[in-house]
Amino acid sequence: MLRDNLHEVQKRIRLACERSGRNPQEVTLIAVSKTKPPAMIEELLTERIIDFGENKPQELRDKYEALPKDLRWHMIGHLQRNKIKYIIDKACMIHSVESLRLAEAIDQEAEKHGIVMPVLVEVNIAKEASKFGLMPEETTEFIQEISRFSHIQVSGLMTIAPFVENAEENRIHFKNLKNLYVDIKEKNIDNVNMCNLSMGMTGDFEVAIEEGATMVRVGTGIFGERNYNI
Ligand SMILES: *Cc1c(COP(=O)(O)O)cnc(C)c1O
Repeated sequence: MLRDNLHEVQKRIRLACERSGRNPQEVTLIAVSKTKPPAMIEELLTERIIDFGENKPQELRDKYEALPKDLRWHMIGHLQRNKIKYIIDKACMIHSVESLRLAEAIDQEAEKHGIVMPVLVEVNIAKEASKFGLMPEETTEFIQEISRFSHIQVSGLMTIAPFVENAEENRIHFKNLKNLYVDIKEKNIDNVNMCNLSMGMTGDFEVAIEEGATMVRVGTGIFGERNYNI
């Protein structure tokens, strides 16, 4: 069943790429495995999926320990500074950098481990009161500011678009994030390598791809509904 879901999502990614004249190789599917057991993840490994997304540091750590070491773990959820230590040597990328204090703390932990952590800056593109992330108009200056940290490298932008019935309603937000991304890329800021646009989830990943996403984060569409009570 997981395989069928995965194949369906992969087909929809290919079709969205075709519609927008993009190469499917440019789009990384991140399977969002939060709340799901390692056994389900193992089923996807046979389908050559290696990118997984988690939103809780301890859960990412535990799954890292339980599974083959060549998987790529993406930290996609809100991250508290005191929990960076659980994932610093396990995550391949942190998608949710949204404050100077957090960026600085990641930089310090990364330095301890002698690594440079790729990070994405989370943008609250629709300016929702309930969401984390930088306001779009603050984002460029923020990136300029954190570019001085030598143990993180800003590698792009991430957003969690509003929850909507009709994915088309989010097209404008994806377009706006893409424009912001291009503006920042054109500034060629030292130690900033704008090459990832992480946007689109189960409900809207096709529209996100049409608007330029290079990473889509799909949970429910692959693993089914989540049960937070278990
Ligand atoms: C849970 C989550 C997703 C996946 O959501 P689905 O709607 O299940 O695809 C994507 N991004 C983030 C940041 C998440 O927390």
